[in-house]
Amino acid sequence: MGANVANDEFNRTLSYANKTMALLKQGEVPAYPQFYELFFTYSTGVNPGLNERINSILGNGIPKLEIVESLYNEFLKSDAIDERVSAVSNLMSKSIDSVQGAIQNASDTAATYSGELELAGNAIACAKDQEALSAVTKQLQLKTKIMHDANKALEGQLNSAQDDVALLKRDLEEVQRQSMTDSLTNIYNRKFFDLHITRSITECRQKDEPLCLIMADIDHFKNFNDTFGHQTGDQVLRLVAMTLRSNTKGSDLACRYGGEEFALILPNTSLKDAISLANTIRKAVQAKELLKRSTNEKLGRVTSSFGVSLLTPTDTEITLIERADRALYAAKRNGRNRVIAEDDKIMQVSSAA
Ligand code: GH3
Ligand code: MG
Ligand code: MG
Repeated sequence: MGANVANDEFNRTLSYANKTMALLKQGEVPAYPQFYELFFTYSTGVNPGLNERINSILGNGIPKLEIVESLYNEFLKSDAIDERVSAVSNLMSKSIDSVQGAIQNASDTAATYSGELELAGNAIACAKDQEALSAVTKQLQLKTKIMHDANKALEGQLNSAQDDVALLKRDLEEVQRQSMTDSLTNIYNRKFFDLHITRSITECRQKDEPLCLIMADIDHFKNFNDTFGHQTGDQVLRLVAMTLRSNTKGSDLACRYGGEEFALILPNTSLKDAISLANTIRKAVQAKELLKRSTNEKLGRVTSSFGVSLLTPTDTEITLIERADRALYAAKRNGRNRVIAEDDKIMQVSSAA
């Protein structure tokens, strides 16, 4: 069974790869990794907006390199976050420079002032009359004012730096949040899932608690998109994401795993409870009657299928995901709109088949 799943994956990705190479040749696009990724993504069809654009470009003959580059930048390059991180770092470093300048200035002024005080001390000791004394006092007043002004300036700059740092901290937190979030559905993204699952497995093992993984996939979603359009499809993805989020709490983690696939990491949860949660979500998704926002047209309902696995002592994140995936495919093969766990009898039947 494992070999079959791996084989399926191999054949599927190989056919995408072949299609990618054919497209690169057809468009005479250099097969740099980023352009390969662009056309590979096109071949999988997971990014309908990108596909529409590439279709129209390829329809007009051989695309200009700049156009392919700008498509890559627009759809795939993850520099939105990088740019923001570098903007925040630039601000941070400007703020540090300005504080450093003010400190240097205040420290130079203090050093000069201390020299002036020594000179004034000597002048007082040597002063012969009232006139000489009052000249030294005047000089001291002047120098004290300079010192005072420099301290005030430092204080002002430190205060404004404090405000800058508070703003930068907020910015940084926002950038961090964005880098973990899927922009379409606003739940955690795959990158965060990959980090989090390893952490959750370690923690559950340390605490000797069970951990379950649910993989979910919307049924016949390609048909839905083809019938109602990708924009409406996107609304459905948001709806399913919201349903996942509103049914998870505490240390549970819901994320968009890829296209129309979602994953739920459930620490401290038995297989029985995970199956029951998957069913609750499945029913909640099915219960929603979909309306097209612009026209209020009824679009029917979508259903979804679920696979559930329970962490074993020898599992890695890969084997845990593999078993949930296999259960999900069994749910698909057995009629969709259902939850199948790895210990389900159907799994043995499927494995034997
Ligand atoms: P199954 O029941 O076997 O899962 O069938 P399916 O049609 O859902 O599965 P398939 O893998 O053939 O197609 C998945 C579709 O999901 C293809 C694509 O149109 C759609 N999809 C993936 N990502 C997005 C997205 O971001 N927005 C929209 N609107 N559709 C997406
Ligand atoms: Mg899918
Ligand atoms: Mg699907």
